[in-house]
Amino acid sequence: MPAYFDHNATTPLHPAAREAWLLASDQSWHNPSSLYREAASVKHHLEKAREQLADILNTDPERILFTSGATESNNTLFHYFSRRSANSSILSSSIEHPSVREPLHRHFAKTIHLIPTLADSTLDLTTFNQQLTTQPWTLITAMAASNESGTLHPWREMAAACREQHIPFHCDASQWLGKLPSDHLGECDYLTGSAHKFGGPKGIGFLVLRDENERPNFLTGGPQEEGRRAGTENYPAIAAMLAALIAWNENLPTASPTQRDTFEKDLLTALPGTRVIGQNAPRLWNTSMLILPRHDNRKWLARLSDRGLAISTGSACSAGHDGSSVVLGALGATPDEMRRVIRISSGWNTTDQDWQSLTEAIMATATNLDQAPLQRQKISL
Ligand code: PLP
Repeated sequence: MPAYFDHNATTPLHPAAREAWLLASDQSWHNPSSLYREAASVKHHLEKAREQLADILNTDPERILFTSGATESNNTLFHYFSRRSANSSILSSSIEHPSVREPLHRHFAKTIHLIPTLADSTLDLTTFNQQLTTQPWTLITAMAASNESGTLHPWREMAAACREQHIPFHCDASQWLGKLPSDHLGECDYLTGSAHKFGGPKGIGFLVLRDENERPNFLTGGPQEEGRRAGTENYPAIAAMLAALIAWNENLPTASPTQRDTFEKDLLTALPGTRVIGQNAPRLWNTSMLILPRHDNRKWLARLSDRGLAISTGSACSAGHDGSSVVLGALGATPDEMRRVIRISSGWNTTDQDWQSLTEAIMATATNLDQAPLQRQKISL
């Protein structure tokens, strides 16, 4: 059976999310802004969902804005800050997702400063603490967990330090939610989440605002979301997102990196010269970013795909382009190393057998790729 190791790109729909989506689509499909009883009922369910999400994040429901996903949430926030003050100075990490980097670059190209990355791909907190007081930052933004290496950022400490300095702090928690506990995430002034990263449907997510009275108005039009984001609310997707998050949060105590660590140990022995990015750093339990000792990563991906294994190069957003990785870029990797990087990201239901199949398939592929030039030579002789 094929094994899926690309959960950081997207996840299969959780059965609870599917059930919630079908129920809401059958029974709660009316427009929540309409003025008859059925619509009022959808509006009621929608607000209940907002309250449940607020409970999970330990924050006020009024701060939550439903969006189409993390890309919209991030763009909304930076667009909002660009309108608020002309001379904004922004501090960000060097390994953010493109949906953070691109809008930051568009709005604040000349005023972005970066927190350096250490050799283990974690953020340099010592430098961050020095940077904090060097100027009056308009906003500091850092992701909770890297989509590429799975490295965890100390967002809780960063949020507390920012609070002390009265600097707004935003955290893109797209890769954290559903994999690690969520109950302190509400401590961030601004927070981004995306359902399809944790078993919810695609095209739904949220942005937590610092203050319920903030009006980002990135999408303008109707008065939905208290006039803060135009567009008919997608209640079935919201219900499904919540069902998935609740389901995986209940499972968290059993999530552990043991399978991933065993895989890495076996691979380092079987394929000498392999490097694990951030091996000893705090990391998501599901992610392994590897620089393989030889051969182009697209060859590895194609051969492993033929064997029924789905893995990725660096991040899904750069796959198919030049494959460049911001994490490896921050670590000063060479172009040759960049071409040998793969990302493995398991899921909540990945079995020991799946991991074993992956190790075996990598080893068989290594032999196959090593022999390919010899075979070509033999044919041409
Ligand atoms: N932020 C991070 C950290 C991500 O990993 C992703 C998706 O890869 C996104 C943002 C974009 O998410 P979405 O597909 O919901 O726009």
